[in-house]
Amino acid sequence: MTKGYVRTDKRKNDELRSPILAKVGVVPNADGSAQFQIGKTIAIAAVYGPKKMHPQHSQNPEKGTLRCTYNMNSFSVEDRIRPGPSRRSTEISKITEWALEPVVMLNKWKNQVVDVHINIIQADAGTRCAGINAAAMALAHAGIPMKDIVSSISVGKIDKTLVLDLDKYEDSIFEDGEGSTDIPVTMTPSGEITHLQLDGRINKEQLKEVLEMAQKSCKEIYEIQKKALKDAIDLGGKN
Ligand code: ADP
Repeated sequence: MTKGYVRTDKRKNDELRSPILAKVGVVPNADGSAQFQIGKTIAIAAVYGPKKMHPQHSQNPEKGTLRCTYNMNSFSVEDRIRPGPSRRSTEISKITEWALEPVVMLNKWKNQVVDVHINIIQADAGTRCAGINAAAMALAHAGIPMKDIVSSISVGKIDKTLVLDLDKYEDSIFEDGEGSTDIPVTMTPSGEITHLQLDGRINKEQLKEVLEMAQKSCKEIYEIQKKALKDAIDLGGKN
């Protein structure tokens, strides 16, 4: 692994933030729900459905529709965020759908829709990944047929050094050298990539290393997601 940059929070370059906490059944009225926390970033996902799609012309007779809505609460960062959709939240909602769709068995509920509402209650970078992790658990908790669960993590490049799971400072404030590049990746436990974003400069060798780092940490996250779901079942089904 490349060296050079020393992290402000003294983490190793391939170390996830802590704590990583996962829980299902956090929204009792929803059909399924989950909370996922990594470091200071906290996401809650609530699933409603499958239910009839309105308006009717949006119904798809060939497969069900997965509709994700990502929202950062106004109090999730120090400077209040203006409530309501933004360009960024619309983009992340779409990306979340694309990251989850490959594992959701959409053909099981034709004409219907499953709504996944993601709320970021505290943001310190990596919110799209935390949201996807919470959403995957919430879908499983709601009993939506899935081929697998997905796990998501962001790998970054700070100047020339690869570092795992950027915090807010590393993600957007660091500017020296080549600056910071953020590469969110979502994977199944077997390493199938369902989502990868990259806007920045990186060479082929480093991208390979990014994927190796992502796969290792997605497996760690997967074990935490799985345990949260199993704990809920051991407690007697949905909380
Ligand atoms: P991600 O949260 O997935 O890393 P971004 O890279 O767009 O997505 O955002 C990085 C971080 O910047 C967020 O987690 C949050 O801490 C902060 N942030 C994003 N949008 C805003 C905003 N409108 N106001 C204040 N902080 C924001």
